[in-house]
Amino acid sequence: MRLHASDSFVLGTHALRETDRIVSFLTRETGKKRGVARGARRPKSAFSGALEPMTEARVVYYEKEGRELVSINAADPIRPSFALSKELDKALLLSTLAESLETFVSESDPAEPFYRLARHAMDALFSGARAAPVAAYFDVWILKLSGLFPAPRECAGCGRPLEASEPLLFDARRPGFVGAECRQGEVLRLTPDARGTLTAFLSGPLDPAAEPPGLAEIAQVARLSRRHFLGHELKSQRVLAEILG
Ligand SMILES: [Zn+2]
Repeated sequence: MRLHASDSFVLGTHALRETDRIVSFLTRETGKKRGVARGARRPKSAFSGALEPMTEARVVYYEKEGRELVSINAADPIRPSFALSKELDKALLLSTLAESLETFVSESDPAEPFYRLARHAMDALFSGARAAPVAAYFDVWILKLSGLFPAPRECAGCGRPLEASEPLLFDARRPGFVGAECRQGEVLRLTPDARGTLTAFLSGPLDPAAEPPGLAEIAQVARLSRRHFLGHELKSQRVLAEILG
């Protein structure tokens, strides 16, 4: 049996027996874990307030070799997400961030880049960023870290470099950006605004005070790429999309 203490983001919980919960969490060092938090369903549990989606906490857990579930000793909040969930769009966004991490971080991925992305999105929200830019930025990056976001500088049909002077066309069937010579059927033509925002997203951090234009188009590219890979849309994403319009 080994004792670990790791900074983590809580991804989700569900009830186990009368008094316990199963908690899934993303650790900085060792990726996604699932474990049992004993007594977490009791009203005055030591875990209360520490297990909301996207709360960052120091999780202390025991791991037994050959066992899938770890045993969670303690979860001491570093930054509870609770303060953000008073606004409906942000509360829904927290569920979306957690579900996306749950879905896209695989056991074999190095966890650190995903952890940094989660931290960056939460920093932006705590600095007052609106839900929509954080959602779009996070969607682009979680797909990129998973190797699933199409390269906007290269034609997905023939591989030639796409120039800044030509229109940026997204073909959802590939999915990828294509030049006019490789276009087949319906494509999504990104406005210059959306293209500028996408380029900024891919090359640097999100400015929490910025109001980047073209977010709906970027969200659409991310949504179509995600759906192409998963074969369906994530539940929390559908609800969030309705709220953000
Ligand atoms: Zn081409």
